[in-house]
Amino acid sequence: MNILLLGSGGREHALAWKMLQSPLCTNLFVAPGNAGTAAIAQNINISATDFAAVKQTALDKAIDMVVVGPEDPLVKGIYDFFKADAQLSHIPVIGPSQYGAQLEGSKEFAKKFLIKNNIPTAAYDSFTKDTVEEGCKFLETLKAPYVLKADGLAAGKGVLILNSLEEAQQELRNMLVDAKFGDASSKVVIEEFLDGIELSCFVLTDGKSYKVLPMAKDYKRIGEGDTGLNTGGMGAVSPVPFADAEFIAKIEERIVKPTVQGLQNENIDYKGFVFIGLIKVGNDPFVIEYNVRMGDPETEVVIPRLKSDLVEIFVAMSNQTLENVAFEIDERSATTVMVVSGGYPEDYEKGCVITGLENVEGSIAFHAGTALKDGQVVTAGGRVIAVTSYDSDFKVAIKKSYQNIEKLHFDKMYYRKDIGFDL
Ligand code: ATP
Repeated sequence: MNILLLGSGGREHALAWKMLQSPLCTNLFVAPGNAGTAAIAQNINISATDFAAVKQTALDKAIDMVVVGPEDPLVKGIYDFFKADAQLSHIPVIGPSQYGAQLEGSKEFAKKFLIKNNIPTAAYDSFTKDTVEEGCKFLETLKAPYVLKADGLAAGKGVLILNSLEEAQQELRNMLVDAKFGDASSKVVIEEFLDGIELSCFVLTDGKSYKVLPMAKDYKRIGEGDTGLNTGGMGAVSPVPFADAEFIAKIEERIVKPTVQGLQNENIDYKGFVFIGLIKVGNDPFVIEYNVRMGDPETEVVIPRLKSDLVEIFVAMSNQTLENVAFEIDERSATTVMVVSGGYPEDYEKGCVITGLENVEGSIAFHAGTALKDGQVVTAGGRVIAVTSYDSDFKVAIKKSYQNIEKLHFDKMYYRKDIGFDL
């Protein structure tokens, strides 16, 4: 098969690495990809959201399957675009329809879906510009801290957690009346604060049945001890030591099953990944959010633990025969540590030469923000390389990642030195 993978991060390098292990994959194209995917597949220099260019590529390269990495093309309707085009409709797209992608694209849609399907989540209500005063009154009925969420996609910045009622009411006005997050905050979800520890559950579904991938936990803040600004993720571990078999069974029964049943009940065309952001409160799981694609950097620990053929699984998803496919997980732990550009998540330099990649041994260096320039690998984003390692003991796996990171170098390179230390 000729496969086209859309995206350019560490997630896509890990997906590409895994798909290339399949005998079903003849040619792999990555659009736009990075220096890591260029080394193992063929990069196509187009944007993943330029559907006309994606179409042209699909036709030029006789593509048999499209795998979508990031959320943007899904929320913009790439699945429906392929279905509606006579030249493309035979090509399966791994990802949900635009309607299904609202599980990530609209927080209100997700909350309604959760409540309708009796899936445990924080109590909530949603407000618009016209109901801002009701929103302020609703806040008065809640206890601090207050959680305000812009309804639409806001690049991970649209959630505010505030300690004082006055501040929460002011921010609600800023979001609804002054469009603090533009269109994304024309509606705001206010929800009950849940106090617990977060983890992520990844599910593959063909819209009828499902397979649960290993759990993972990521580290969002830039600073050690989970301090400082939020990032796309500074590291991840899988499995999650505090999610034992009993807790995982609760997740499957209370959350995964009703989620897939809900998709089916509502006739939502969904052949893709469901990333369920969870919080463990006491011993019970609650849903914080849905995403309609894999997480990054969680993919860099979850996908390496999948022993079975990922392309075969994707084919089964597109044929709705996922129930029958082989699905085996590596018992070992996988850990990843993200190496970033100094200054990230604020301003940082690009174009710094990265050295030492060839010395990485016993770990996998998944490229994130990298590019090729004059034959050299250079930095091209905030998050640069995710170094993934396996071991039966996750603490040993983390050590391996750190030992290999020490062999890497670029100007102002930074990474957190405490990934997994809290577990
Ligand atoms: P992301 O950047 O992960 O995509 P997002 O902008 O889609 O985030 P959420 O995941 O809904 O938004 O929320 C971001 C973070 O805010 C969560 O990871 C969690 O730490 C915190 N959070 C969200 N909702 C709650 C809640 N009800 N109670 C406590 N914390 C919450």
